[in-house]
Amino acid sequence: MTVETMGAITVAYTPEAFPALWETTITKPSCPIDGALIRTLGGGLCGTDVEKIQQQKVPVGTILGHEMVGEIVELGANYTPNSTNPETCFSVGDRLVIAHHVPCGICHFCLNASPSSCEAFKASNLVPGGFTQFFTVSQGHLHHTCFKVPSHIATREAACTEPLACVLRAVRRVGNLHNGSVAVVGLGFIGLLASQVFKHQGWQVLGLDINPNRLALASITDYCHSVAHPTEQEPYWQEWLEAQPTGKVDVVCLTVVNEATLALALQMVRNGGTLLLMAGQGKQPVSLNPSVLYYREINVVTSYSPALEDLQQAFKLITTRAVSLTPLLTHPLSIHQFAEGFKAYTQGEAIKVIFSFAEDGKLV
Ligand SMILES: [Zn+2]
Ligand SMILES: [Zn+2]
Repeated sequence: MTVETMGAITVAYTPEAFPALWETTITKPSCPIDGALIRTLGGGLCGTDVEKIQQQKVPVGTILGHEMVGEIVELGANYTPNSTNPETCFSVGDRLVIAHHVPCGICHFCLNASPSSCEAFKASNLVPGGFTQFFTVSQGHLHHTCFKVPSHIATREAACTEPLACVLRAVRRVGNLHNGSVAVVGLGFIGLLASQVFKHQGWQVLGLDINPNRLALASITDYCHSVAHPTEQEPYWQEWLEAQPTGKVDVVCLTVVNEATLALALQMVRNGGTLLLMAGQGKQPVSLNPSVLYYREINVVTSYSPALEDLQQAFKLITTRAVSLTPLLTHPLSIHQFAEGFKAYTQGEAIKVIFSFAEDGKLV
């Protein structure tokens, strides 16, 4: 029996190979009996992928990539569609967007609005990972976290489903506020998606970033009501805050968490307001005085991974083009340019890097 192989981006930490290698050849997985074998078409580079590489959080040889779009090349003999969802009646050749984790739906976490803490959710994944030519998905994925991409939607747009879902869950966890106002700190991909979602839901949105290119993009796209540099334009954003009902914002959405952004958030948020964390800490440790939170009754809300309802809603927003993605997809690259995409992301040049796996080098 011959073993089929395929190319993959596996994590390596040697300086010469940093951050990763395409040239690695690994064994091609075989189709699970009730799942599917997927040929990879495209996939987004997530901030958590970059963090895992930079902070060496995953072992050498790991295959990252979880914002994936691919085509079914084989369905397992025992695959049956989800009986309650006719849209999961998939066929070979279908183009799917796939979220990597599947909650069980019946455990205590799942029944109490914490599906991303479910053991089954954490244990499930694409096999062997996303940044490779082929991967497999389970029947659970096919039943719950796969969506057939309509022909009018580009692969690069569909690949934004999972990150958008994460934003939708975050906004949902904050809840609806009367005359709500939010400051979004960090106008990268997640920050600009969050700005749009808040604005669509009727919030007043102030965007803040230290990167002039990001500020310029946020200004011309109209994703926020106002944008400012946090230190150079403090009088400007202070004036904006003063126009809000409490002279502060109800929510500060942090897509970058460090000493400076936390201090800024505590300065901007009203008493009884919310810090919404959309990221973990960067390279430097940060401290937060619990007394500040306690006496000012400031809530902390997080969103690391989406629930199924958020994936469904995100897919709907993308397929109906209710969110604007095109200006954000700044770096469509071939997977052979992985190192280039990684560098563009870490140097703050890219808003979103999306890799194409097309053999003819065509971008998705
Ligand atoms: Zn992600
Ligand atoms: Zn569960």
